[in-house]
Amino acid sequence: MNNVEYYLDYPIANLTTYKTQGNVPLVICPKSPAECIFVLDRLEKFNLGYFVIGNGSNLLISPKTQKICINLSKMKEKIKINGNFIKVSANTSLAKVYATCKKAGLSGIEKACTIPATVGGFIKNNASFMNEDAFSHLHNVTMICDGKIKTLKKSQCEHSYRRTNLPNGIIISATFMLSPSSQETVAANFFEAICYRNQIQPKGFSCGCVFRNPEGLSAGNLIDRCGLKGKCKGGAVISNQHANFILNDSNATFDDVKYLIEFCKEEVQRKFGILLEEEVEIIQ
Ligand SMILES: Cc1cc2nc3c(=O)[nH]c(=O)nc-3n(C[C@H](O)[C@H](O)[C@H](O)COP(=O)(O)OP(=O)(O)OC[C@H]3O[C@@H](n4cnc5c(N)ncnc54)[C@H](O)[C@@H]3O)c2cc1C
Repeated sequence: MNNVEYYLDYPIANLTTYKTQGNVPLVICPKSPAECIFVLDRLEKFNLGYFVIGNGSNLLISPKTQKICINLSKMKEKIKINGNFIKVSANTSLAKVYATCKKAGLSGIEKACTIPATVGGFIKNNASFMNEDAFSHLHNVTMICDGKIKTLKKSQCEHSYRRTNLPNGIIISATFMLSPSSQETVAANFFEAICYRNQIQPKGFSCGCVFRNPEGLSAGNLIDRCGLKGKCKGGAVISNQHANFILNDSNATFDDVKYLIEFCKEEVQRKFGILLEEEVEIIQ
C-alpha cells in the first residue's frame, strides 16, 4: 500500500478539459478499490482536503489550491453486460460505454454518452443531454465511503437536475438498466446527439456550460442580452456562439476564467436582478 502512485506539482492542464495554467500540489492515483480505501482513510485521518477527478470536464481548478487530487485514471476499466444491465467502472469514459451499448444493442443513455465524462462524474453530477440524464437509467452505484464499499440503489440516492446528494467518497462503479434495441438505432441516436451538440456547442477548451439555467430561463441568453459575447480577459473569452461557454482561447489562467464568471454574474444581476449560479465546480 505504500506504493500508491502519486505525482507532485502536477499540471492542471493535464487534468481538466479547461486546460488552464498552473499545478496542483499532489495527485494520487489509486489502482484498485483497496488503494482507494487506504488513500481516503489516510486523508481523512490527517484531515487533508481532497477532491476526486474524473475527466475534469466540469472543474475549474485554482493553482493556489492545497487540496489533494484523487485521480482514478489508473484504475482498471471494466464493463460487464448481463442481459439488459451494464455494469461499468467509474473511470470508464462515456464514449466507451456508448461503444459497448452499441455492440450489445442496448439503448437508453447513448445520447448522454456524447458528454465528455467518465461514469463517475456523469453520476455525481447527474449530467444530462437531450432529456437523458445519468439517473434516468441508473440501477445502482457502488461507492467507497466511511471506509467501506457500499452499493446504493437508485432509490437511495436523491437527485435532481444536474445534482445529486451522493455521500463524500469515491464512486467505483455503476450499473445501468437499458432496453434492448438494434445496433443501428443506438448508433442513430448517438449521431443525432453529436450533430445537435456540434450545432449548439462552440469548439475549444471549456467546461461546457458555466452556469445553471435559472428556472424557465437560459443563462446563455441572459448573458448575451447583457452584450457580453466576445468579452475577453487574458486568454479567456465568452464564446460568440454560445454565451454560457467561457473558452480557454490561449493559455488562460484560473483568474482569467474566474474574472469572466464574476463579470457575467455582476452584469446579469445588475440588468435582470437574477443571480446566476455556477454549474462548473470551482476548486479553490
Ligand atoms: C465540451 C463539454 C460539453 C459538456 N456537455 C455537457 C452536457 O451536455 N450535459 C452536462 O450535464 N454536462 C456537460 N458538460 C459538463 C461535464 O462534462 C459533466 O458535468 C460531466 O458529468 C463531468 O464528468 P467528469 O468525469 O469530467 O467529472 P469531473 O469534472 O472530473 O468531476 C465532476 C464532479 O464529479 C466528481 N467525481 C468525478 N468522478 C468521481 C468518482 N469516481 N467518485 C466520486 N466523485 C467523482 C468530482 O469530484 C466533481 O465533483 C460538458 C463539458 C464539456 C467540456
